[in-house]
Amino acid sequence: MFPIEKLKDLRTPFYFYDTELLNRTLQAALSEAVACGYHLHYAVKANANPRILAMIQAAGFGADCVSGGEIQAALDAGFSADKVVFAGVGKADWEINLGLDHNIFCFNVESIPELQVIDELAAAKAQTARVALRINPEVDAHTHAHITTGKKENKFGINLDRLDAVLDTLAGLKHVQLIGLHFHIGSQLLDLEPFQLLCDRAKTLQESLLKRGMRVEHLNFGGGLGIDYEQPDAHPIPDFKAYFKTFHDYFPVAPGQQVHFEPGRSIVGQCGTLISKVLYVKEGSVKKFVVLDAGFTELLRPALYEASHLIENLTAPTHEKVTYDVVGPICESSDCFAKDIQLPQTQRGDLVALRSAGAYGEIMASQYNCRQLPKSYFLDLL
Ligand SMILES: *Cc1c(COP(=O)(O)O)cnc(C)c1O
Repeated sequence: MFPIEKLKDLRTPFYFYDTELLNRTLQAALSEAVACGYHLHYAVKANANPRILAMIQAAGFGADCVSGGEIQAALDAGFSADKVVFAGVGKADWEINLGLDHNIFCFNVESIPELQVIDELAAAKAQTARVALRINPEVDAHTHAHITTGKKENKFGINLDRLDAVLDTLAGLKHVQLIGLHFHIGSQLLDLEPFQLLCDRAKTLQESLLKRGMRVEHLNFGGGLGIDYEQPDAHPIPDFKAYFKTFHDYFPVAPGQQVHFEPGRSIVGQCGTLISKVLYVKEGSVKKFVVLDAGFTELLRPALYEASHLIENLTAPTHEKVTYDVVGPICESSDCFAKDIQLPQTQRGDLVALRSAGAYGEIMASQYNCRQLPKSYFLDLL
């Protein structure tokens, strides 16, 4: 499935994107969403590679941004501002102003002081900002602690017991217009049950808003659908049908109500691979190490939240299996991709693939140790 002959001559490490799989994934997500009448905003933070963004925009997605830089990247890639939503617990004034200047679709607001600042900045421009309240629904996503966002103690969103105070504040502000509710409970969810609980929570919330005479026009259920990191070839495209069906079944849409989603990982995760070369095979006293030319500077997820990526030896796939730790060259002990895994007997110069690296991969690359940022290559341009 990898064009190995072509990849072999490129300088490693680099990202390789299967653009054909990306297009199939985009079509699968869109057709299932459209069947339910849902709107999709791609979560730019998963991967902001300009070519990837352009393909997602061309497919018809909106953009979910969490910084001014992402708003700019989305606009540069051709996303129209009326499909841009802006979330984040710490929006700086210049970022809010950028959103106002482009008249983006919606600010997803996470606190009372943020609401007041948006009102002030919008007033200074004689504008009215559309806002949705990002509610922390206190639903446990049962995912890794570093990527769960919908629990009471997380920094994200407005806690349920603060909602009344927020609505009281809103009533006194003239330059913000409440258009809906926003949620995002976490990432890499493979169990759909937390989404059912989220639907129940959304129903209860809109009822209590209705009691105050406020109709919720837009509901945004965020992102979070997971991908199969263990068997990417068996499940290259996530089960969007089951995902959207959960919301369709558990959240009946009222007439005129619009429902939005912000998928990130599920869109780009499987189409990206980090390609690296083996520098050395080092025999320690208790371990054998495969030392790659890629490290956490290119793929941070294993060091950041104990994530594991399927690792394949592309040049010696049939050799007898040996147990290795696979590590990078960075001067930190956390620079380790896998411990005690079975790989075909490996030697210097072998080409290695770290699979399912399309989301939160290239975008998190750093220049620590004065390294160069990785290049990217695309199947259809090789
Ligand atoms: C990160 C994020 C997403 C995307 O999450 P995925 O798990 O990649 O789908 C969506 N919405 C918000 C507000 C986010 O912060």
